[in-house]
Amino acid sequence: MKRQFDDNLYQFDRPQSSYWEATAPAAALDVSAIMRDDSCEVAIIGGGYTGLSAALHLARDFQADVRVLEAGHIGWGASGRNGGFCCTGGTGVHGQDLVRLVGLDAVREYYKAQLAAVELVRQIAADEHIDYQAQGDAEVVVAHTARAFKRMHADHELMTRHLGLQAELISAGECRERYYDCTENFGALVNRPAFGLHPLRYCRGLAAAASRHGARVHAQSRVIEWSRSSDGRHRLVTRSGTLTARKVIFCSNGFIQEDLHAEFFGRAMPVISAIIATRPLRPEELAAQHWRTENPAINSRHVLNYFRLLPDQRFLFGGRGSTNGSPDNEQRTYADMERRFRAIWPAWSEVEFEYRWHGLICMTASLCPTIGQLAADNSVYFGFGYHGNGVNTATWTGQQLANWIGTGREPKELPAIVRGLSRRYPLPGLRQTYLRFGIFLARQLDRIG
Ligand SMILES: Cc1cc2nc3c(=O)[nH]c(=O)nc-3n(C[C@H](O)[C@H](O)[C@H](O)COP(=O)(O)OP(=O)(O)OC[C@H]3O[C@@H](n4cnc5c(N)ncnc54)[C@H](O)[C@@H]3O)c2cc1C
Repeated sequence: MKRQFDDNLYQFDRPQSSYWEATAPAAALDVSAIMRDDSCEVAIIGGGYTGLSAALHLARDFQADVRVLEAGHIGWGASGRNGGFCCTGGTGVHGQDLVRLVGLDAVREYYKAQLAAVELVRQIAADEHIDYQAQGDAEVVVAHTARAFKRMHADHELMTRHLGLQAELISAGECRERYYDCTENFGALVNRPAFGLHPLRYCRGLAAAASRHGARVHAQSRVIEWSRSSDGRHRLVTRSGTLTARKVIFCSNGFIQEDLHAEFFGRAMPVISAIIATRPLRPEELAAQHWRTENPAINSRHVLNYFRLLPDQRFLFGGRGSTNGSPDNEQRTYADMERRFRAIWPAWSEVEFEYRWHGLICMTASLCPTIGQLAADNSVYFGFGYHGNGVNTATWTGQQLANWIGTGREPKELPAIVRGLSRRYPLPGLRQTYLRFGIFLARQLDRIG
């Protein structure tokens, strides 16, 4: 099996020692590995938000006979490791650039779905009693330079006038009074709806809800071979058992094993994102940077950072991870991130970090999520490529795929820009080179401001 990063990133039998793993209650749930040959109507490859949401909706809304096969434990992938920002996004380009690429009507249609996706997360949590520790009611996008703040005026205009989104432009002074201050505060755009959550609690909550409604979830069940049996059913082989199914949903996003099915080869560009978290900050430390918000925040850099204060006053700081995932490279990335953190909030220059972890997000050549049914085989469905914004988008994708299978019709809510399989990267073997080049360019743009 050929993967794009160091083996270190694919240790399915071990959890990443993250803040989320340390603070999520254990799931009281039978998610034992598939232990014999079995069959079902719909098999799902990947037990993150996409797969679990699809399983929940299929079992609950359509009483479907559905099973999830997950290579690690539930939430082993990005769904158990992310920053916990539940907000709109999900494409590789934003604002005016996306409009230039696909047109205003298509962007408006996409954001309508994005808003529905944030609401869906809230609704599932309420309906299924998932305590995911919600925090805040907005996402604060802070301009890291005066030039970036100028660009935000155009974004604000687009969002409020043409896309019907709730966005507020505030000065650096207002940002300092209402949210926080730092060396890179030149004003901010405040987007709603958005909030922070505990990603692993949410993921385990989805798995519990799916199981309660009749789905079977199998952890430690990595699919190592995908073929067809003589009666046309899909055969998903794991080390401990084989699952046969009429339909398959393929949703392993950045951890994609792309040699499982020829149609998926070369469609995904996994990228490492990394997070560090401090010890709990004392009230006087928070006051020193005027920090007074639970809202998740990001900066306006092309190679951006995302950050939030956690319920126990630790500070989470995320950004682009290492280039190849090797342990050495990883350590250098964490050290760079710590330097960046200390430069942005000088009053916290002595604060120690207690957690460091990383995971894979997924980009596509179309720069948009890719959701649908294979043209070459209409019993295979897929959803991936959320560009670092999958809390809402993956949950919503799972629901859309469930509706598609449950009703037998493509959901009309699927925006045109996410519909169908994203084109293959040209010369897929060069994806890491494209990525490095893209990051180099983005860093140059960040230097200019
Ligand atoms: C560090 C980090 C920070 C992020 N921060 C945010 C954020 O703040 N907000 C936000 O919206 N998004 C964020 N994201 C992105 C978000 O986490 C993902 O988009 C989302 O979790 C994707 O869900 P998924 O179910 O599609 O994929 P995943 O959660 O990655 O799940 C895919 C699963 O497939 C499994 N798998 C792979 N191969 C096989 C196989 N052969 N057989 C069986 N199982 C297999 C993997 O083990 C994995 O668990 C972040 C991601 C990372 C890594």
